[in-house]
Amino acid sequence: MPRLEEYRGIVGPDTLEELHLLARALDGKTVLHINSTAMGGGVAEILSRMVPFLQELGIHTRWEVIKGGEAFYAVTKKFHNALHGDDQGVTSRDYQIYEDTLDENLSMMDLGADMLFIHDPQPAALVKKRREMDGRWIWRCHIDLSQPSPQVWDFLKPYVEQYDASVFSAPAFAQKLPIPQFLIPPSIDPLSDKNRDLAPEEITLVLERLRIPTDKPLVTQVSRFDRLKDPLGVIEAFHKVRSYADARLLLVGGPADDDPESSLVMEEARERAKGDPDILILCLPPTSHIEINAIQRASAVILQKSIREGFGLTVTEALWKGKPVIASAVGGISLQITHKYSGMLTHSIDGTAHALKQLLSEPEYGRWLGGNGKEHIRQNFLLTRHLRDYLLLFLFLSHGQSDFIHLPDQPAAANP
Ligand code: UDP
Repeated sequence: MPRLEEYRGIVGPDTLEELHLLARALDGKTVLHINSTAMGGGVAEILSRMVPFLQELGIHTRWEVIKGGEAFYAVTKKFHNALHGDDQGVTSRDYQIYEDTLDENLSMMDLGADMLFIHDPQPAALVKKRREMDGRWIWRCHIDLSQPSPQVWDFLKPYVEQYDASVFSAPAFAQKLPIPQFLIPPSIDPLSDKNRDLAPEEITLVLERLRIPTDKPLVTQVSRFDRLKDPLGVIEAFHKVRSYADARLLLVGGPADDDPESSLVMEEARERAKGDPDILILCLPPTSHIEINAIQRASAVILQKSIREGFGLTVTEALWKGKPVIASAVGGISLQITHKYSGMLTHSIDGTAHALKQLLSEPEYGRWLGGNGKEHIRQNFLLTRHLRDYLLLFLFLSHGQSDFIHLPDQPAAANP
């Protein structure tokens, strides 16, 4: 795990100084993050990097994962789809399973902390315990809540309203709430195994080991096998460009502990790709960070044809690697890509196919897009910016109603 000091060359000295200054003001505070999976998906990815850095900054930080059975994850998957607008009929029994599981977790968890960061709907109802505790409770919503199924949102909203604050990744994701709302986009860690520079030999070795041929340009989508990531749409778009460009499609995914549907969706993709030797479907274990890094770096074009999306960290990762990305204009993807400047935004299978045809035939244009994308990520979506936003939020919440927060080491005269 790199130390913060190693980021100096990437983000500049001021950013690091600011982090230390803010952290000193929070001296002695404790933070607890709670989510629903230790591995797989964007939230676990971020926490695995964020938690050690908070600790390095002197903030005592714990990360806990709620426990649930198959039935619980089937329910929370239904919630997830319904909150994205696709209501598959949540029953009263489902709500009961949700409540019972969180009650069991409450009876086992140590919730003592100054700041509790509860991630996404799965653990949201833990807030029941808030009145018995001293800490400030923050609901950190990573998903797009702009068009939720009213039924599921009506169930969750009374819980969310009990928090001290909520955090959304983008203005467009938020809901009207009677509690303060903060907008904090997520980030990637440029020095993690998923994103650090790799030597060309390292990339070659990984591709050989995974038996990915490199005789044709690789077009890649990295995503959990989830219908909202539209793997079948990706295959269809790829089929449409086959007669114009000789390329290979790679769909890379892996299981997430909290997603019972993924093997079914992967089977559907395999079925659709059957008989086409230029489509490879790879299921990698959730620890395959260097493998995904190498695959993204070896790709000519990266796709992210999501139907709905949270922030879309796979897009951030690909842009950071200077890759041309073709992605749906959904969720946080529109914050990351300016159409025809730092990537291509599309709205359909045809649009994706059209952009893919163009980028496969104009690699120079693709490199220009990728270069612009990388700079945008450097300035806005690296871990250090994310850490700063969280520290500012903690400071705000720990200072009650006061309008001014005096930071240590600041001469009093400098403060208004
Ligand atoms: N990811 C991974 N292995 C996979 C699929 C995804 O490590 O097989 C990672 C991916 O690199 C990214 C995260 O999981 O860091 C996915 O985050 P994103 O915001 O794109 O989507 P989510 O899964 O949270 O909906």
